[in-house]
Amino acid sequence: MDPFASRVNPSCRRLLLRWRARMNRRSVPICLFLAALFCHAPVLRAQDRRVRLAQAVERLRESLVAQRRDFHMYPELSNREERTSRVIAQKLRALGLDEVRTGVSRHGIVALLKGARPGPVVALRADMDALPIEETLDVPYRSRHPGVKHACGHDVHMTVALGVAEVLSAMRGELPGAVKFLFQPAEEGAPEGEDSGAHRMIREGALENPRPAAIFAFHVDPMLEVGKVGYVAGPALASSDTFFIRIVGRRAHAAMPHQGVDPVVVAAECILALQSIRSRRMDPVEPLVLSVTTVHGGNRSNIIADEVRLEGTLRTHNEAVRERAIGLVREIVAGVAAAHGAQAEVRWSARSIPPTINDPGLVEASLPSLRRTLGHAGVVPARPSMAAEDFAFYQKQIPGVMFWLGVGNPARGIRAALHTPEFDADEESLVVGVKVMSNLLLDYMESHATGR
Ligand SMILES: [Zn+2]
Ligand SMILES: [Zn+2]
Repeated sequence: MDPFASRVNPSCRRLLLRWRARMNRRSVPICLFLAALFCHAPVLRAQDRRVRLAQAVERLRESLVAQRRDFHMYPELSNREERTSRVIAQKLRALGLDEVRTGVSRHGIVALLKGARPGPVVALRADMDALPIEETLDVPYRSRHPGVKHACGHDVHMTVALGVAEVLSAMRGELPGAVKFLFQPAEEGAPEGEDSGAHRMIREGALENPRPAAIFAFHVDPMLEVGKVGYVAGPALASSDTFFIRIVGRRAHAAMPHQGVDPVVVAAECILALQSIRSRRMDPVEPLVLSVTTVHGGNRSNIIADEVRLEGTLRTHNEAVRERAIGLVREIVAGVAAAHGAQAEVRWSARSIPPTINDPGLVEASLPSLRRTLGHAGVVPARPSMAAEDFAFYQKQIPGVMFWLGVGNPARGIRAALHTPEFDADEESLVVGVKVMSNLLLDYMESHATGR
């Protein structure tokens, strides 16, 4: 059953049958027609609204492309999104949104669009930052900031959110509830020593006054063809924890290892032993990745090093698995070091992201809306991934879903992965994204509206 569209009063049918018994034959068809009209009026209204909305988005096509190109040409790194923030705030104010609060979590923005009818508050989140990557695309809208590029599609996310704000603000007379727009900086991680991102947005009240009942977001996916939206119910993206290991031995001549403690050998054993967390210590059906990604130690071929430093990342889809793996890393490193007479310490980065878990009920309730906008073939199940997204912090507070927005177009050569110098997005995805998200938010509000 379609939880968003089922507005037909079930008692209509009973009423109709009773009337039919009383009426003469000639009046039955008229009654049937009138009753059908009455019972289906909300559905017809929704269809009409959907058509008007699609037309409104089509009219925005050029300005959406221009807006995305502007963001793309002037990308800014995490916690440095000053211009980006100014452009967004200006646009939201020009649209006449009820509240536009800037300076949330440094350059973040929280804005509220209140509808004329009573109903729930629902949130839409878009992230704002770019990456330290030199663009190699030869396009008119190539990055004007050397060494910085929107290589994760956040320019698309912001443009779609602004498009949704524009379309829905023009429909506020029929909006049952309010939409809260969250423009969030530093999704890719604030510079060392700085704090920002989703958790700070929350700490600074982004989810209060009013508190949204649900939150949605898109993330672009270049592996998904433009015109399609992908979904995962439950764990969709992984937790992310970075670890730093320091193994301290004792320096000695390389020809006399017994006079020292060799931290290189200890580090090598640690690297291998840590893989046994995945292979021997955890339930094999639980996703977990542990990668040691850097090794630094020693400075000459004939001297045993006094210290080796390792860095790496731990990814899981489950908080309990994550906690247990964190404990095992400490245990294994301490055990291996002790077995060799070395010292070891393990430190975890303060930037720690929980798994992105899409609320299964909210996903289920959203699918009919997505299918009405894109058709059945346009809404596809996606595979969970071990990448991470700080959207997860919002989902710890309220039910939330992040959908994948298809931006790939192999026929036009648009297929480069996220976080690469060649990454690009098919701009048709802007129109698709605004249509899908506007309808989804409206359908959500309509289905939870009070006094309808
Ligand atoms: Zn990214
Ligand atoms: Zn991203």
